[in-house]
Amino acid sequence: MRRVYLDYNATTPVDREVLDAMLPFFTEGYGNASSIHSAGQNARGAVETARQSVAALIGAKPSEIVFTSGGTEADNLAVLGFVAAMRREKKHVICSAIEHHAVLNAVEALEKQGIEVTWLPVSSDGIVAPEDVRRAIRPETVLITVMHANNELGTIQPIAEIGRIAFESDVYFHTDAVQSTGKIPLDVNELKVDFLALSAHKLCGPKGIGALYVRENTPLEPILFGGTHERDRRPGTENVPGIVGLGKAAEIARAHLASDSDRLTTLRNSFEEGILSRVPESRVNGNRTRRVPNTTNITFPHAAGESLVIAFDLQGVQCSGGAACSSGAVLPSHVLRAIGLPHDEAKSTLRFSLGRLTTPEDVAYAVEVIPGVVARLRSLSPNYGKATIPAD
Ligand SMILES: *Cc1c(COP(=O)(O)O)cnc(C)c1O
Repeated sequence: MRRVYLDYNATTPVDREVLDAMLPFFTEGYGNASSIHSAGQNARGAVETARQSVAALIGAKPSEIVFTSGGTEADNLAVLGFVAAMRREKKHVICSAIEHHAVLNAVEALEKQGIEVTWLPVSSDGIVAPEDVRRAIRPETVLITVMHANNELGTIQPIAEIGRIAFESDVYFHTDAVQSTGKIPLDVNELKVDFLALSAHKLCGPKGIGALYVRENTPLEPILFGGTHERDRRPGTENVPGIVGLGKAAEIARAHLASDSDRLTTLRNSFEEGILSRVPESRVNGNRTRRVPNTTNITFPHAAGESLVIAFDLQGVQCSGGAACSSGAVLPSHVLRAIGLPHDEAKSTLRFSLGRLTTPEDVAYAVEVIPGVVARLRSLSPNYGKATIPAD
C-alpha cells in the first residue's frame, strides 16, 4: 500500500543533506563547544557557522540567535524570560487566542501569577486585526505575542503591521514563527519583532533543537539556570549535532524557499480542489489567500475527525485532526473554536500539510482515496442524509 504523509506541520522527515552534516558530530566531532582544546574549538566553529545560517534565514545578526531545545522552549524563553526581566509593579500582556500551546500555556502561567492578559480574538477566517492590538495596549503593557503562521489553519498574521504598532507604542513583540520559517520569506527587521521562535523539526531538520531570535539590547532573563552558554541566556552543553542540523536545514530552506513555495502552493491547491469537488459539503477553514503554501484545513460535516484520521491511515493517508499536540483530548481545538466553528463541525475537521517529499502522485492518491472513506463513515452516522424530525 502507498503511504502518503500529509502531516508536515506536526513534524517533517530529516533531509538527507541535514543528516549527513550532523553525523560527524556524533563521532569524530564530539567535542564540547565550550572546551578550549582543539576538539572543543572544532565544535565551536560548527556551532557558530550554524548560527550564521539561522541568522541569514531570518535577516538577523548571528549574535541575536539563542539555541534552545526546540520551539516550545524558545517560546517559553521569550514569554517568561522577557516578562521576568521587566521590573515593573504592574504588567500586562497581549496574546492572540490562536497561539500554539507553547505560547498559550506560558501566558496562562503568567496569568496565574497575577499578570493581566488580554486575549485577542480572530476573525472567522483566522486573522488577528492589528486595530484590536492597538486598542488593547495600556500603559502597563510589556509584551505582545502573536504567531506568524498558525499551525492548524496555516493563516499568516499581519505581523509587520502589529510590529509597527508595538514599536510606536514602546511595547516588546514576540512572534512564534515555527510554522512560517522556511515556508515564506521572513525578515525580523521588516516584521519589527523583538523575539522570534523557530524549530528545526518543522523544516526538515532534527527534533529537539530550535532557536529564539532576541533583538540586540532586548531585556531577557534565563528560565533555566546553569552555565554561561549562549551569552548567559540559555545554559547547558550545546547540542552540537542538533545545532549543525538546524543550520543546514536553514541553509537548504533559504536556497529552496521560492521554488518550494511555488511547488507546494500548486500541490496544496490541487489537493484542495480535488477534495472540495469530490466530497459533498466539505469546506476549507481560514483565509485562503493569506496562508502558508503547504497547509489546508478542511471540515467534513457528519463524520467524526478522529475516525477519519484512523480510516485514512488504514488507506495509507496520514493527516491530523486539529492540532497534533492535543490529539487524544476530547475538546475540539481552541483555534477552531476561536474562528467560531460549531462544536460538531470542529470535531469533523482535519488538517492536511504537505512538504518537501510530497509528490503530485501522493496528492492524486489522497484525492482518490479520501472521498470514499468520508462517504463510508457518513453512512454510519445516524443523522446523515435524513430529514430532521422536529421535537415538539
Ligand atoms: C511545533 C510548534 C511549536 C513547538 O515546537 P517544538 O520544537 O515541537 O517544541 C511551537 N509553535 C508552533 C506554531 C508549532 O507548530
